[in-house]
Amino acid sequence: MADQKNHESGAVTMTQSDLAAVVAAAVSQAVKAQNEYKDPEVVANKARMRANMQTQQKDNLRNKEYRESQCSHLRENNSSRIAWIDNYVASKGVVIREGFCMGCEKHFHPDKEGYMEMVRISTGMNGQGF
Ligand SMILES: [Zn+2]
Repeated sequence: MADQKNHESGAVTMTQSDLAAVVAAAVSQAVKAQNEYKDPEVVANKARMRANMQTQQKDNLRNKEYRESQCSHLRENNSSRIAWIDNYVASKGVVIREGFCMGCEKHFHPDKEGYMEMVRISTGMNGQGF
């Protein structure tokens, strides 16, 4: 009878576990809505940051290319400033000599231009450091 009365008054009788289930469902809906909501300002900021990063990367690449183009990779006595490293390439079973310029950080690899010219020039160190 009590149920009937509550029903008429608009009140609902439920067990504690019913209530817990209802609350859990409501919370889960709210969390889902929160996760799906994308703040337009946040979305715009992300897009702007991505664009800035791409611009920065292009600038960095241009700076690097410029720095490399301005470097002779040589010391005043015409010895090479390149640090050569012999790397064993396991997949090919060969040793590849690669270099890094101490002046501009240009990477010299057999597949890249300028390698054959530079690999012939003495570092003046007879392999004793750079
Ligand atoms: Zn250089």
